[in-house]
Amino acid sequence: MSYVGPDFEPPRPRRSRRPLTVALAALVPGALLGWLVYQAVGGSDGSAAAGGASTPSASAGRTTPPTGSPDSASPRSSPADDAKPTAAAPGATGSEPLAGKVVVIDPGHNSGNFRHTAEINRKVNIGTGWKECDTTGTATDDGYPEAQFTLDVSHRLRTLLEQQGATVKLTHDRDEPPWGPCVDERARIGNTAHADAAISIHADGSATGNRGFHVILPGSVHAGGADTRPIVGPSRDLGERIAGNFVRATGSPPANYVGGGTGLVTRADLGGLNLSTVPKVFIECGNMRDSKDAARLTSGAWRQKAAEGISEGIVSFLRG
Ligand code: ZN
Repeated sequence: MSYVGPDFEPPRPRRSRRPLTVALAALVPGALLGWLVYQAVGGSDGSAAAGGASTPSASAGRTTPPTGSPDSASPRSSPADDAKPTAAAPGATGSEPLAGKVVVIDPGHNSGNFRHTAEINRKVNIGTGWKECDTTGTATDDGYPEAQFTLDVSHRLRTLLEQQGATVKLTHDRDEPPWGPCVDERARIGNTAHADAAISIHADGSATGNRGFHVILPGSVHAGGADTRPIVGPSRDLGERIAGNFVRATGSPPANYVGGGTGLVTRADLGGLNLSTVPKVFIECGNMRDSKDAARLTSGAWRQKAAEGISEGIVSFLRG
């Protein structure tokens, strides 16, 4: 889950709901909001999700942040996580589309955080105030931890981006470091790498019945050590492209509980975004606490599709 905060911005006015064809969506994915693309692909999520997409006003006014009980999440592993990422990418030759581009992937949380609660509860400055260094993240009801999910998707995403020639850096990998890093450091890693794009991978811990993905965009923040003003525009471009490609690759609907059905939410309370000086977004790939979403999140085949959608959004953004 992301770091819960009170200051969601009001949903932006929704754009036209006229039907679009898949072909049209493919022509201009970066310009489309997630729910529009979802309508274009027909909504493969069954009646509940289709209803959510066709009646976005039902959730348009909600500003309730994702809820959950990250501290109750268990680090137990799940046999559902047996699918492995594809083989490592060959070395870049300089002719790939993303040659020379740097992407930083931030796997949300860390499986070791459960054993380092004192360290991760330490407060760090995020420009607008102070927040915990890191959190444990959530888990499915069957005990598949968010930190395991985020690392798996990050590995798959890294492979796909390296196949395109990108230089990819993870903010942490497996047990290194053994906890965290803190959210300010996660941002700093992207900044220091001069990343052309950065993404933080998460899954939410919201109420049962809350379904779908959303991409979190940085709000305009200029306070303390935070100044997101230069990255707000490019980050929105990045986020819209990821949302459009994610919906197409996975068939998952935009969240029905935040973002007014757009799959996009703007927040100014996340240190990982506030402190970034490079284009960056978060993605909450689904709600681990909902059984229908959990069935997806625990599927290796679905996680591969998720990584492909994210990768294609990043590639689209970096190629312009
Ligand atoms: Zn998270």
